[in-house]
Amino acid sequence: MEPIVIQNFINGEFYPTEEYIDSVDPATLEIVSKVPRSKAEEVDKAVKSAEAAFESWSILPPSKRAQFIFKIADLIDANLERLALLESRDQGKTVGAARMIDIPRAAENFRFFAKVISNPESERTTLSQNARGTPFTAISSTNRVPVGVAGLISPWNLPLYLLSWKIGPALAFGNTCVCKPSEMTSTTAFELCKLMVEAGLPAGVCNMVFGYGHEAGEALVLHPDVPLISFTGSTAIGARIMEKTAPMVKKVSLELGGKNPAIVFEDADINAAAAGCARSSFTNQGEVCLCTERIYVHESVYDEFMQKFIAEARKFTVGDPRSPATRCGALCGKPHFEKVISYFEYAKEKGYVVYGHGKNNLELPEHVSKGLFVHPTICTKVPEDDKMVTEEIFGPVTVVNTFSSEAEAIQKANATKYGLCATVWSQDLSRVQRIPRKIKAATVWVNCWLIRDLHMPFGGMKTSGVGRESAVESMEFFTEQQTICSLF
Ligand code: NAD
Repeated sequence: MEPIVIQNFINGEFYPTEEYIDSVDPATLEIVSKVPRSKAEEVDKAVKSAEAAFESWSILPPSKRAQFIFKIADLIDANLERLALLESRDQGKTVGAARMIDIPRAAENFRFFAKVISNPESERTTLSQNARGTPFTAISSTNRVPVGVAGLISPWNLPLYLLSWKIGPALAFGNTCVCKPSEMTSTTAFELCKLMVEAGLPAGVCNMVFGYGHEAGEALVLHPDVPLISFTGSTAIGARIMEKTAPMVKKVSLELGGKNPAIVFEDADINAAAAGCARSSFTNQGEVCLCTERIYVHESVYDEFMQKFIAEARKFTVGDPRSPATRCGALCGKPHFEKVISYFEYAKEKGYVVYGHGKNNLELPEHVSKGLFVHPTICTKVPEDDKMVTEEIFGPVTVVNTFSSEAEAIQKANATKYGLCATVWSQDLSRVQRIPRKIKAATVWVNCWLIRDLHMPFGGMKTSGVGRESAVESMEFFTEQQTICSLF
């Protein structure tokens, strides 16, 4: 297939750039698309276009904004198959996962926020009497106003899904935006621009500038006319954005990395825990920020768990992401692949690996034989201060260690700089009420994983992030409250 030549989307028009970055299909190493290598100049042009569109977009009645957003969601649904295939080719994920998870969720993200603004909560109005008894009445009320031009920066693991989770609320609450998707997976974002044109979204309301993080991304972060940055990505870049924006006092939301624990208690349904932990460890090749990378199992059920867990891991067949039989696709990008492999080699040398071990034991069809595939891998008996336990790997690998008491399980689960999510497996009702409060993670799943009610706040504790996203929390972030006190 000929590579797609992506263009920047500014003020409703598509613009080429001088230089392009090759975006490669990690399964075949073919070039999927040519991504514009935008610089500060293009970012500035996009910000100016978003600024110019802000006034008329922000004063539209929410129901009118919702109409555009619903239309975008419908067009994503109508293009499900094409978008799923492109997402798979760009990212390496299975087309099945893109069809079932990524693309439907992208449509739902738009629809969710369109519904939120279709039924707005009423703002507060109070009557204040003068305390000194003078006969006058001051009426206080609140307004909620959009912040302005939002800078939205997204990663490569769930490309359209995570980008739409930012564009949806930014536009719904009356902001205009400039987006910078990951340079490794920009294709579906470009397709989204075309759908926005088809939906009739007014020019300049949503702009897309493609390119590297240290060039286009940083220019967006530093732009003086972008008062708000919503970022999803690594903790290192999140920290850098916090540092860079601090002197400018920007509003910043950061959704960052994790090293998520699962705790399997002795009273757990071990079949369910083994299947759930395999899913939470290996879904999307382990490239979901919410994936489990550490499992703590009560010592009395360790052998039973391991036997069942390995049996479940075997079901994650690695191969051509376009084959319906595949459950583990290719890793996204050569540098990331090499990073994951280096952890696998290290674990193998240390004697930690009990299942998997990397890339050498894969039988792949000829057309994907050069792809960036690794085998789901399970390690055990790893010291708690080893890098396999402490560092985010972001691949299909998990460490299984034991504990002997509830206190030890909690201590081990919390012994990380991250605090994104955790899963707890137990059938003891009082335990499952008690434990989540003790775990320093922003989302705790009990006897399940990845079930998301979009009304629930999503984010990270500790170095996993700052801020929360949901109907209410995203409204707080993408708007400013204004108090008006009028004396009559
Ligand atoms: P990354 O931090 O390298 O890049 C994320 C985005 O930031 C990309 O668009 C990139 O181009 C851009 N960027 C890079 N340098 C920049 C800079 N100096 N200024 C501005 N933008 C810059 O992350 P990644 O490798 O794309 O994604 C993987 C990471 O994202 C993992 O750590 C994962 O846990 C995390 N993640 C977190 C969540 C969450 O919701 N908490 C969701 C998905 C991924």
